[in-house]
Amino acid sequence: MAPDDQDKQLRAVALKNSQTILAARQRAEGERDRAQGALELKTKELARALATMRATFESTTDGILVTDSGGHVEAFNQRFTRLWGLPEAILQSMDHQQWLPAIAANLADPAAFSARIAEIYATAPDTTFDVLQLADGRVFERFSTVQTTEGERTGRVWNVRDVTERRQEHEGRFRLAALVESSDDAIISKSLEGVISTWNDGAQRVFGYTAAEVVGKSITILIPPDRIHEEPEILAQIRRGDRINHFETERVRKDGGRIDVSVTASPIRDDEGRIIGVSKIARDITQAKRIERENLRLVEVLKESDRRKDEFLAILAHELRNPLAPIRNAAQILRTRSGEDPELGWATEVMDRQLAQMTRLVDDLLDVSRISRGKVPLQQERVDLATIITSALDGARPLIEKAGQVLTVAAPAHRIFLHADPVRLSQVVLNLLSNAAKYTNPGGRISLTTEEDGEWVLIRVKDSGIGLPADRLDDIFEMFVQVDSSLERSHSGLGIGLTLVRQLVAMHGGTVAAQSDGPDKGSEFIVRLPTVGALDEPRSAAAASEEQASSGPSTLRILVVDDSRDSAESLVLLLRLLGHETRAAYDGLEAVHAAEDFRPDVVLLDIGLPKLNGYEAARRIREVHGADLTLIALTGWGQAEDRRTSREAGFDHHLTKPVEFEVLLGLLKTAKKRPNH
Ligand code: ADP
Repeated sequence: MAPDDQDKQLRAVALKNSQTILAARQRAEGERDRAQGALELKTKELARALATMRATFESTTDGILVTDSGGHVEAFNQRFTRLWGLPEAILQSMDHQQWLPAIAANLADPAAFSARIAEIYATAPDTTFDVLQLADGRVFERFSTVQTTEGERTGRVWNVRDVTERRQEHEGRFRLAALVESSDDAIISKSLEGVISTWNDGAQRVFGYTAAEVVGKSITILIPPDRIHEEPEILAQIRRGDRINHFETERVRKDGGRIDVSVTASPIRDDEGRIIGVSKIARDITQAKRIERENLRLVEVLKESDRRKDEFLAILAHELRNPLAPIRNAAQILRTRSGEDPELGWATEVMDRQLAQMTRLVDDLLDVSRISRGKVPLQQERVDLATIITSALDGARPLIEKAGQVLTVAAPAHRIFLHADPVRLSQVVLNLLSNAAKYTNPGGRISLTTEEDGEWVLIRVKDSGIGLPADRLDDIFEMFVQVDSSLERSHSGLGIGLTLVRQLVAMHGGTVAAQSDGPDKGSEFIVRLPTVGALDEPRSAAAASEEQASSGPSTLRILVVDDSRDSAESLVLLLRLLGHETRAAYDGLEAVHAAEDFRPDVVLLDIGLPKLNGYEAARRIREVHGADLTLIALTGWGQAEDRRTSREAGFDHHLTKPVEFEVLLGLLKTAKKRPNH
């Protein structure tokens, strides 16, 4: 080869080589750059992964510590140092053994804690689990797991979790469960469809079923057929979110026995507040109900016996009244003869006085029992208080004079009117005045004062007598109550006067109260009654009848009809002594016939008669004889309704037994003689 060619060839090779080298270098550089890029990427990814791990590590609520097998601290999170309250200084050392005393100091039992750690280091178990009780009451759970790298143990990860709240919640539930179990009441939960889900011991005691027998079954097994409608109503109410409080009903036990229960039910809600079931407490109130029913029965028994007592009193008073009539007549007969015989005069006076006393007692008894039974309608009219007071004073004066007491009366200058039954209100004032006379020593003072107080009037009856203990001021108004109830007591009476006073005052819309500074300090009774405005004074009925009674025929034909022969005959005799022509009959039919035969001017007719009662007899007599004769009812029953019935039957007058003789004489004076006599 020519040198030039050689040279050329050499150059060409050199050029080629250098090009190859350049290309190789460029390739190598490219690969290096790629590798570097990949490395940078990997590094970045690693850094990101590390950062994520770190963030995860820090954001967990557990405290985490990583140690190597020699006990050197490799990593820990903030949470770990905070849970144990580790100071900065300790954290510098990175030696687990250095940290342990500071950690142990938190424990309720530091020695046990340290011993356990030593054990873990010594035995190196794969995992551990301990519950740590701290001195401040917190509770931690500690887990640890061995860490391995490529199959080799390289250390341990310690994990600490504060479970104080969870434990407390758990304990709370535990306590609640214990409470539920120990309750005497049945505590049951059920679904909104009424399927039983829990059943405590109380439920077993109350209903007799065990939990195993009823859980999963419908609550309706406890409900008696006639009350089955209650369940849907209860469930509907619960679905609306309402509570059911102390609903009293009946349920059935396993043994079929019915029990009374008081049910309280409320909705069970989930975390979101949705109603998911019903909790129900059923209390067995069978016993309480039985006592309640028994009490009600006893109240009924008491009411019934009280009613029977009132009825008995009414009959007693009525029966006691009947014999008084002939006795009074007999006394009157004796009186007509007493002119010649002073001893007879004295005896008739005694009889009169005692009869008056007995009549008053019997009347009070009859009144009180009839008022208690609501059988005393008032004859209310517009009446001047002075009329009432005067009539009461007329009745009381003889008593007060006899007892040797001084009576003063004070009244306002102007007139006061009441809407009242004058007879009944006089009775009230008379009762209070007679009590004052009864319970005051001779020489004592009694005052009767009336005063206005707005639209009310106060009637005060005050005495300087034996007084009343403070604790008796109210109960003396109760029936049969007497302060001195010993048998040796010096005053007569049944203990009903004040009961009557209170009843009558109440019927007039008023009140009565007693006052006393104590025994021997005197007493005061204050009656408070509503007043009405002043009007022209009505003509008094008494004045009118007085006028009428001024004259009358001296001899009458009088038929006396009474099934009590004593009553009839004594009255016949008495009337005969007064110069009247008389005849007696002893039953209703006989009365009708006697009226035919005898053609009386006046018939005194008892009501309770055999064969034909007094009303019927009166009707028949009236039918035959028209208005020619005077018909007078003589009866034990003197109430307004009795008077009305007797008026309807054709009676002209109605007298209650025993008849006040003066009153009868007054009526006889108004009676006419029949035209054909
Ligand atoms: P009675 O007088 O028949 O016993 P009352 O019902 O009138 O019945 O009175 C009940 C009781 O109240 C009397 O027994 C008496 O103890 C007491 N009492 C009533 N009025 C007076 C009074 N003016 N002073 C003291 N005690 C009185």
